[in-house]
Amino acid sequence: MPGQLQDKVALITGAGSGIGRATALAMAREGAAVVVSDVDAEGGEETVTLIGDKSRATFIHADVTDPDDVDALVTRTVEMFGSLDCAVNNAGVVNGGTRMHEMPDETYDRIMNVNVRGVWLCMKREIAQMLEQGGGNIVNTASGAGLVALPGAAEYVASKHAVVGLTRTAAVDYAADGIRVNCVCPGYVKTNMTRAIWEDPERLTAMVAKEPIGRIGEPEEVADAIVWLSSDASSFVTGHPLSIDGGYVAL
Ligand code: NAD
Repeated sequence: MPGQLQDKVALITGAGSGIGRATALAMAREGAAVVVSDVDAEGGEETVTLIGDKSRATFIHADVTDPDDVDALVTRTVEMFGSLDCAVNNAGVVNGGTRMHEMPDETYDRIMNVNVRGVWLCMKREIAQMLEQGGGNIVNTASGAGLVALPGAAEYVASKHAVVGLTRTAAVDYAADGIRVNCVCPGYVKTNMTRAIWEDPERLTAMVAKEPIGRIGEPEEVADAIVWLSSDASSFVTGHPLSIDGGYVAL
């Protein structure tokens, strides 16, 4: 049986670990040729190795905050695989743990640079390519912090609310051009980003207490939602921030 993304070309940023890696593996499983991109070359190459012979896959190093890197990333994707059908703008960083009045301005700049400007730069180039080829699909990784407050993480919350805003606006601007744009809003997921929390039994208990479902999520649970949003199975869905959070924002 053909996969949900059979013969599509997918590009995933931040695919060297966590949610991005799980998404690269899920998209390969569903038949897409996959471009794995990250600033972490070792992690990215490892993702390609994990894909193995499931599908065609390659690693391209790119820092999403660098316009030249992003230009080259999209250009090389199309040169190698012929098109860009599914883009997943997932690279992101977190800080948190400090209230606003104590947060260094440099921290705000760093988080906004990767989480917002990075998504902005990627979307611009991806959309230009998709317009040229007559359509495509974009999924951004926002967060539950794109929908509600996260205490002590104002800069991260602002960045993820911005990702939801970019998603909604691009969805409306390009709907008639055959480009759908959605985002996922994960709750707590077991990745390197949250390692300091889930490795500490006390902090893990406090985290799980905020999750109505009674556990934290696995990267694969987010990846499967990204596959759905990237596939024709969600053909009437655009501009949607999809919560994948065990009920976190419903509480
Ligand atoms: P992760 O740290 O495992 O993965 C993030 C990846 O992004 C890393 O491989 C890192 O090298 C890469 N990256 C960082 N800066 C980059 C840059 N400038 N250019 C290119 N790549 C860069 O964390 P994760 O949890 O898999 O995070 C993926 C996305 O999910 C992020 O956008 C994050 O904000 C979001 N998210 C995570 C959670 C969670 O609980 N883990 C919850 C909600 C949202």
